[in-house]
Amino acid sequence: MSNVRDFLYCILMTTLCGCAGDQMGAFDSAEVEEALVTEIHDQNRSPDDQDPDSPADQKRPNPTPPLPPISGKTSCRADGLISPNLYSTSVAEYLIIRDKDATAFTCLRARGVQKREIPRSSCDDDSCLVTDAYIFDSHYSDGTEVELQVEKAKFTTTQARGFATKVAEALGRIPSVLRKGVREGKIQSGPGGAYADVAKFFIATEYIDSRIEQKKLAHTMFHEAVHAVWEDSSLSLNQTSGWLSAQASDNCFVTSYAQRRPAREDMAETALLAFAVNYYPERLPQADLKALQDQVPGRLKFLSDLLPKKGESLFVKQGAVFRCN
Ligand SMILES: [Zn+2]
Repeated sequence: MSNVRDFLYCILMTTLCGCAGDQMGAFDSAEVEEALVTEIHDQNRSPDDQDPDSPADQKRPNPTPPLPPISGKTSCRADGLISPNLYSTSVAEYLIIRDKDATAFTCLRARGVQKREIPRSSCDDDSCLVTDAYIFDSHYSDGTEVELQVEKAKFTTTQARGFATKVAEALGRIPSVLRKGVREGKIQSGPGGAYADVAKFFIATEYIDSRIEQKKLAHTMFHEAVHAVWEDSSLSLNQTSGWLSAQASDNCFVTSYAQRRPAREDMAETALLAFAVNYYPERLPQADLKALQDQVPGRLKFLSDLLPKKGESLFVKQGAVFRCN
């Protein structure tokens, strides 16, 4: 993050219509956009009209046109979306990771107040990017560890710990293979959404609470971890020939958000559903499960090779396990 004005522009654009990824590198408006879908529909306006693709996305070739129906298989819609496709974003509709599922989170270790770079709506130039933050190391049963930083200005230590705990519990429900690459979580006060950068994610406190109310904070953690660990890191899996070939060979996109931003959002959008197909197929409607298997087999194969399979543990030891008191 180098330009706070870009960030603020993103927040503004997100509030109005969602924000293209190029405005701030790794900005992710999926979850904010989700909250706006109902409002946009109520206004009888198409979300696509409100949410322009990034220039980077526009340079990409169009996906392969829909293929004719294959005998016994479902085919995607004429507009290139999976059929049945009911959703704007994959983090929005399904309950794939549930509150009753185990979390690998074990404890927080408070490390006081330190300076950290946390973009904030109250900060209107680069000079105030760095601020005081409560620092908590969140520890997990697989030996992973993520530093959670909570903007200090508006919270007591107890409140900050509360937000860090909520995030850590949700982060503990995603597979080790994703969590192991997350180093920092930056928790901003007030309204906003969630987005990611290399090995880190950003999330606003009001959004944390709204996602918990919807029982989908773990979905957001999963989605942002895909960005932070598989895409933005040196792995850059979304730029590999294997992924690009899978995109080209599949008929369609799993969500309209993935379709609008294939370079930025397709992998994160598809990964949560690939995880469901792999691990919790019974949590998907049968028609949706079949549609995914029929219509995006290339992407599912690519992602399945990265994700735990049904019967395997989600949590695989990654290093020495911190001993909580
Ligand atoms: Zn995203």
